[in-house]
Amino acid sequence: MKSYRRELWFNVPTRRAFINITPQVQECLRESGIREGLVLCNAMHITASVFINDDESGLHHDYEAWLEKLAPHEPVSQYRHNRTGEDNGDAHLKRQVMGREVVAAVTAGKLDFGPWEQIFYGEFDGGRRKRVLVKIIGE
Ligand code: ZN
Repeated sequence: MKSYRRELWFNVPTRRAFINITPQVQECLRESGIREGLVLCNAMHITASVFINDDESGLHHDYEAWLEKLAPHEPVSQYRHNRTGEDNGDAHLKRQVMGREVVAAVTAGKLDFGPWEQIFYGEFDGGRRKRVLVKIIGE
């Protein structure tokens, strides 16, 4: 069995953003040489997500509005977590809703996706360098 590991780095200038990272994951898959197996892709930070959905700008707007309704950033004093001196209590909750990781099948050297599936990095507390882990196993 072959195994491959790489970290993808991000430095999102805004507090929140959704970035399609499918091309980077496909590049990892090419580099790995693995034809049959599994790819795991996870945020290495507790205020960011990796998830699969459609690359559609309306949907990204809807996520933003929905997450702000569920866990508004302001007022930051509403979160007990922020008593630590942080202001990212909302980002921890948003990440919990959007998930930590995705696992995708690799078939014939490609991500074995349905027609609209794409992999996204969801940033909820940007303005600093953060990482996503890509681990691929198979043969
Ligand atoms: Zn925090």
